Amino acid sequence: MSPDLRSIREPLLRWYRRNRRDLPWRRTRDPYAIWISEAMLQQTRVETVIPYYERFLTRFPDVLALADAAADEVLGAWAGLGYYSRARNLQRAARVVADEHGGRLPDTAEGLRELPGIGRYTAGAVASIAFDRPEPVVDGNVARVLARLLEIREDVKSPAVSRRLWEEAEGLVRGRDPGDLNQALMELGATVCTPRSPRCLACPLVKLCAGHAAGDAESLPVKPARRAPRPVEAAAGLLLRRGRALAVRRPPRGLLGGLWELPGGDLAPREGPEEGLLRTLRERVGLRVAGARRLGTIEHLFTHRRLRLHVFRCDTPFGRVRLEGFDAHRWLAPAGLAGLPQGAVTRKALELLATEESGSPDR
Ligand code: SF4
Repeated sequence: MSPDLRSIREPLLRWYRRNRRDLPWRRTRDPYAIWISEAMLQQTRVETVIPYYERFLTRFPDVLALADAAADEVLGAWAGLGYYSRARNLQRAARVVADEHGGRLPDTAEGLRELPGIGRYTAGAVASIAFDRPEPVVDGNVARVLARLLEIREDVKSPAVSRRLWEEAEGLVRGRDPGDLNQALMELGATVCTPRSPRCLACPLVKLCAGHAAGDAESLPVKPARRAPRPVEAAAGLLLRRGRALAVRRPPRGLLGGLWELPGGDLAPREGPEEGLLRTLRERVGLRVAGARRLGTIEHLFTHRRLRLHVFRCDTPFGRVRLEGFDAHRWLAPAGLAGLPQGAVTRKALELLATEESGSPDR
């Protein structure tokens, strides 16, 4: 660790105690609740997480409740937060904790890392915040703060710099109140040392910061250029048979695993939306439809894909459902579709349908 970095400990802790936001997971020392909050906060903003966190803990108040719940129920409580593998892993880990640890989370970073889905960051966060262990954490906020304080001008995602950041964080967290120290670093990154315009004049570390002294802290950390998301076009259909709509479920692993959606699929190159819909319905659910009426188009940005989804309504599909690339199907009253665990795209597609029905002259 850089010899000077430890001098930030005291001003940083003092600043944190005066300025920290009052967040629900900061009002508890329950390791389970802290673990849930850390899992939710990955890649997700604090304001988005708060209502999910509160609902989740009401529904699954402890490890055993989560371990015993139906997988669909857990995904349903997570729906809308994205990165669904986090929810599946939480439940897998809860089952291991219930079966092998008597329902109590391991109290060391090492023990936590043995659980499914718990990596170095989450293990360090839970071990330090819930169990006062001097374990480091490096997430995007911490990497940014350290890169600026130390004026690191190499790519922070490179293995060498990443290793260095973890070593610096490890040296820094040693001492009293490791949980507060880690949270203070994250809080400073979230509220003062923000990505585009750091508020250096309000920062308790301004006199100790090499990036600020160099005059271009906002250009740090250096990151490699991101590849633009790949554009993908797809079609999906609301298939109605005797007043019931077809929903299909994705297999548990992979993108949006375990979630329900309307049947359809990606368009082939130069294929029109309706043509693509009829083909993918034949191939992926074994059904034929005579015609389709367009409800609208949805755009959604995933990490690596920019999706344009054309949504259609098709009455009286014929044939027997044969699934290819899905693992279950249900015919439900259209109003029941919203109650299934689903991703943001399916929610938007159902909103299109609701909009159409509310505008329909015969209602
Ligand atoms: Fe970040 Fe500025 Fe504080 Fe340095 S002085 S840690 S760049 S906010």
